[in-house]
Order: sequence, then C-alpha cells, then structure tokens
Amino acid sequence: MDLHAIWLSALGELELTLSKANFTTWFRNTAISSLENGRAIISVPNTFTKAWLEKKYHESIVKALKHVTSNAIREATYRVEMRPAVATEPIAEPQSSEAPPSFGIPESAAPVNESNQNDDVGLNPKYQFDSFIVGKGNELAHAASLAASTNPGAAYNPLFIYGSAGLGKTHLLQAIGHHVVKTKTEAVVRYVTCERFTNEFIQAVRGGRINEFKDRYRNVDVLLVDDIQFISGKQGTQEEFFHTFNALHQLNKQIVLSSDRSPKDIQSLESRLLSRFEWGMITDVSTPDFETRIAILESKCGQKNYPLNPEILRLIAGTVKSNVRELEGGLNKIIAYHQFKNIQPTMETVQTLLQSFVPTVPKRNITPRRLLEIIVQYYDIQMDDLLGKSREKRLAFPRQIAMYLLREDAKCSYPAIGAHVGDRDHTTAMHACNKITDLLKTDEQLKQDLVLLREKVYSDKV
Ligand code: ADP
Ligand code: MG
Repeated sequence: MDLHAIWLSALGELELTLSKANFTTWFRNTAISSLENGRAIISVPNTFTKAWLEKKYHESIVKALKHVTSNAIREATYRVEMRPAVATEPIAEPQSSEAPPSFGIPESAAPVNESNQNDDVGLNPKYQFDSFIVGKGNELAHAASLAASTNPGAAYNPLFIYGSAGLGKTHLLQAIGHHVVKTKTEAVVRYVTCERFTNEFIQAVRGGRINEFKDRYRNVDVLLVDDIQFISGKQGTQEEFFHTFNALHQLNKQIVLSSDRSPKDIQSLESRLLSRFEWGMITDVSTPDFETRIAILESKCGQKNYPLNPEILRLIAGTVKSNVRELEGGLNKIIAYHQFKNIQPTMETVQTLLQSFVPTVPKRNITPRRLLEIIVQYYDIQMDDLLGKSREKRLAFPRQIAMYLLREDAKCSYPAIGAHVGDRDHTTAMHACNKITDLLKTDEQLKQDLVLLREKVYSDKV
C-alpha cells in the first residue's frame, strides 16, 4: 500500500479547490503516516495546522481520500508528529515565508513555491518545454512561446495566450520563464499571477512602498502575468499595470499574458489596456484531440514510471476529454488505486474508476433562445423561417429537432415548446418530439447531427 501515492493524489484534488497560498500553508509537511481500519492518520507539523485542517478542510480531505481510494479510506484523523526536519519549528501559525523545505509535498505536486529562492522568479520546475506535449490545440501557442523565450522582446510583444482552465497556459508561461533563465543567465524574469500582482500593488500603496513595487516589476527582462482576466474592474491595478506595460514595452522587454478569455471578452477592461493587449500576438489553447491526449498520457506515465498498455491509455483518453488537468487527475487516480490495492490495472477496473469523469450534461443552463440560435446556425437557415409557417422540409425538419431538444435538454413543457417555436400548438410539439424519437432509432445521420448540436449547446462558447 503506497500511502505516499494516495496522499499525493488526494493533494492533487485538494489543490484544485484551494488557493495556492492556502494549499501551501496548510498542506506543507503533511503525510499519511498510517492506516487504521479505513481511517487515515494524517501527520501534521504542528497543532495549529491540526486545528485548522480539522475545522476547515476535514470534509474536503475525507472526500478527496474517498475519491482517490474508491472509498477504501473513509475517515481521517490528524496527529502532530515531529518529524526531524520540522522538530525545531515553533508551534505557531505557519508562515509560508518561513516554513522549512517541503517534504510532505514533493516538488512535482507542490504549487509554485513562493518561499524559496525561486521567489524572485516564481517558477515551478514542473512546467518546462520538454514536458509540454504539442498538438493541434496548442501548437501555435507553443511556437509563439518558444519564439518569445528565444528572442525575448523581439518576436511578439506582448504575447497573449488564452483558453479555458487546465489547458496549459500556466505551463507555457512558466516554460518561457525557465527557458530564459537557463539560456540568458543575466536576464531578470518575473512570473506573477494577476491576483498576486494586485495584492502586492495594494499593499505597496498602503505601506507607502510604491517605488519598491515599481522597481520590482519594471526592472525585468521578461514579465509573465498569469490569469490577467482578474484585472477586470480593478481600476487602480489597471492604471498601474498600464504604466508597467508601457515602461517594459518601450525598452523591448518581453511581456507574456495569459487569460481564460480573449482580451476583448475581459469585462471592464480599460480600452487603452485592451488595445495594448492586442498589439502583439494573441493565440489560444484549445482542448487536446484524442491523439494529443494519448501522447500526454504516455508522457505522464513515463514521468511517473508507471507504464500502462495502449488499450488502457485509449480508454482513458476516450473518457477524459475536457482538459489536461482532468486527464492528469484521472491518471493519478488510476495509479493510486492500483498501487493501493497492489493489483494490475485492467479495462474493467480503469473503467470503474473513470466513471466520475464521464461528462454529465449540465442541463440547467440552456436557454431556449440559445438552443434555437444554434439550430439556425447549424442548418444555415433564418430564425424567422424556423419560427415561421412554411412546411418546406428544409425548415420543418430543423424545427422538429428544435422542439425535440427543447423537450429533452431544456426540459420545456409541450405548451412552452409551442410558444417558443413560433406560437404553435402543444400537439405539434408532441408530434415533433415523438417523430424525432422514432427516427433516432434508425437514422445514423440524425444521431450524429444531435451529437454535434449538443456539443455546441454545451460548449462554453456561444
Ligand atoms: P491552465 O493554466 O491553462 O489552467 P495549466 O498550465 O495549469 O493550465 O495545466 C494544467 C495541468 O495540465 C498542468 O499540470 C500541466 O502541466 C498539464 N498540461 C497542460 N497542457 C499540457 C501539455 N500540452 N502537455 C503536458 N502537460 C500539460
Ligand atoms: Mg493557469
């Protein structure tokens, strides 16, 4: 039973739900020290951490442990254990800036370590170009990142990378940083999350240390700002960032930004900042395709020294599709479980473990309007025609599909469907739904159309 691997997987899940600072503060130097009848004894460095974990994180911890061990572990107790490396530490509120080097959380699982000598740069050794798998969804972002790291300030300035969570934006930003640090020893690199930039700015203003702050961010060769969308609506920070940006740009210093949306989709962003974000290169990262997911899994298995056979890799890649973070999470879960049980993974065990990753359709958020718009777009017809009276097949058929989806996915009543689709009678809606249900039993093309339509309906982008 590899308690270490189990704890790592659980930490992996917890990390997703906590801020980096909290995660580092509360889970540094923790470990599962033993198991007693399905209860994990978690060793913690001091009573303060013990109390905090019990009060604040107990539920999440138990949930994560249950999840990664498929309920083999169902409870947790915390015990202060003076391990050699922390024995001298006073029992007091842990300060991330004074905490001893982590050994409970190994390098690969730890978030950016904000307390060691990396503090100046802010880089996590896990995120480098050589561990980044390139595929269709990220090749441009990857190429641009390489260019920016080889010739900072010369290629694209700024480089703006956007895309949904878990698709490798942070990884790329940090890889740029590492590459520059390695190849240009004299270059000053700074990686910062927008949140941290904001907090430091606010504290600098409060503490009358604004010049220090300016020095910190304007005397660099490469500035990497992660999750810049958080600057939305923060006027003071936007103003300061605008000047930082200008100072760096004028000196041809490289600026790289990441965001979960494109610059023009960031709400309440000053137009002068928006225009600057658009000066250089804007590129997105999108969900990896099947082949890329396989390649990523192979690479992660290699890193973890846990080879899986191709059939199982295909099963994982075919099930966990949303993003790379989940893909890694799925893999970690599989590894932890099989190591824990000390058995070889089979298609059956893996399939069972992956159940929680089978996408459940978020049926609540669909508005009838959005559904109709997607139908119109997909069948290339006009909304007026879709809602109109014509019985031409090219219009009548999409109309019936619209009614079917309104019923099945938007959970509308028949009268409501009639009202949404051009004031029709509820019997018409009923008839349409029955007809499409029947057709679906045999019509392969229709099945495919519905898959595509639903993909569109449930994707983030409108
Ligand atoms: P984002 O910042 O876009 O939310 P991250 O960069 O944090 O995503 O990536 C989430 C996890 O997935 C990280 O562990 C990262 O190393 C991994 N990852 C993402 N994309 C890739 C890739 N193309 N190759 C290898 N690992 C990747
Ligand atoms: Mg990120």
